Amino acid sequence: MEGKIIGCIDRHRRRLIDLAEDIYRHPEGGFYEWRTASKVKEFLEKLGIQVRSGLGRTGVCGTFSGGRADADAPHVTVIGELDGILCPRHPMADPKTGISHACGHHLQLAVMLGAALALTDPEIRETLCGTVSFLAVPAEEYVDARKRRRLEAEGVGFAGTGKSELIRLGVFDDTDIALTTHVHMVPVEEDLYLGNPACNGFSSELITVEGRAAHAAVAPWEGVNALSIANSAYQMMGLMRETFREEDHVRLHTLIREGGEALNCVPDHVVVESKVRAVSLDAIQDIRGKVTRAFEGAAYAFGGKIHRERLQGYLPVRCRLADPALKKAAQHLKGYTYREVSVGDHNNACTDVGDLTHLMPVINFTHAGFSGGLHGEDFAVTDQDKALIAPAKLMALTVYELLKEHAVEARNVMEDFKPVFTKEGYVEYVRSTIEK
Ligand SMILES: [Zn+2]
Repeated sequence: MEGKIIGCIDRHRRRLIDLAEDIYRHPEGGFYEWRTASKVKEFLEKLGIQVRSGLGRTGVCGTFSGGRADADAPHVTVIGELDGILCPRHPMADPKTGISHACGHHLQLAVMLGAALALTDPEIRETLCGTVSFLAVPAEEYVDARKRRRLEAEGVGFAGTGKSELIRLGVFDDTDIALTTHVHMVPVEEDLYLGNPACNGFSSELITVEGRAAHAAVAPWEGVNALSIANSAYQMMGLMRETFREEDHVRLHTLIREGGEALNCVPDHVVVESKVRAVSLDAIQDIRGKVTRAFEGAAYAFGGKIHRERLQGYLPVRCRLADPALKKAAQHLKGYTYREVSVGDHNNACTDVGDLTHLMPVINFTHAGFSGGLHGEDFAVTDQDKALIAPAKLMALTVYELLKEHAVEARNVMEDFKPVFTKEGYVEYVRSTIEK
């Protein structure tokens, strides 16, 4: 059966590469992936399985039951991410939006659909004891504050990330195990990296600094310079870095979204978007407190005011070592090198997969086959077999290993997993972080 799965994906090699390249050439931003979603929908419908679309605006989900599924059989969901990232200098960036697939999400979709091709093959499908979904999810990349407001006005409940919105809407309610993949996010020599290393989470805020306008030359002493307040806060944050613990993996990012209007007027209104990344919710909260004190202290010194609006963040990824099903699946891939995630492996970036890891087991692997930096203008696919074909095989084989023979492996994964949140608890938690 493993040979059949591999053979099926090999037969459709060209079709999968063409699909990935088509999506690569038409990148779309989070929650606006209309064309990409229609491509995924069309592909899944051709497989003759049940397809739902319009999930959290653009999400698409195809579902089928294996031939041996019983009433309590597990439900595994293979995830692909629909969105590109704002990277206007990338050669394949959309000239109007600046969005490009500089994070390789187009590959994920082709991997997911390649797995769908193999697993819906009648002979393979017959052996599966469980339900399988292929879920294309909107908006994995950070959605900035202005865009969130627009989306909220258009009815998106959790506009911060696609996965949180789909959790809120109940799309993950039936899922017992999720499977994800990505291009390598940490330096890995091998072709495949099995498991989910811990990743940072983040909190984000929109900080408005209010000063007082005055003529910049005639009477600057009558003004309160909001930009000076923001600058002072930046310097304090810089000096505070020595208090960050290495093991907390802290990253601080700030962008000035509005920095004054007229050069001959003391700026009285500055808007800063701020992001704090760290390894745990406690560390994030601790550093967020320091950032707040920096802004409040600077505002006090100059006689201005700050106003903070909390934005939804991502939860840290809970580390998950390679599952037996994933390891067994990898053994069937000949000619590829791989290694497993070790305890202590850490990714400083963030992903909304972190939110999912607080609710359900997420089996993950990452892969090679590209050059350049993630989110960089030089990101490019260099090896279709490593970037797409082998990952598609590994994804399909892992689902097969989970669900074959009464789904013993899937049931083991479910039994061992301890969730941090129920779905209701999670939704309540996210709401509490964005209360106005
Ligand atoms: Zn990504």
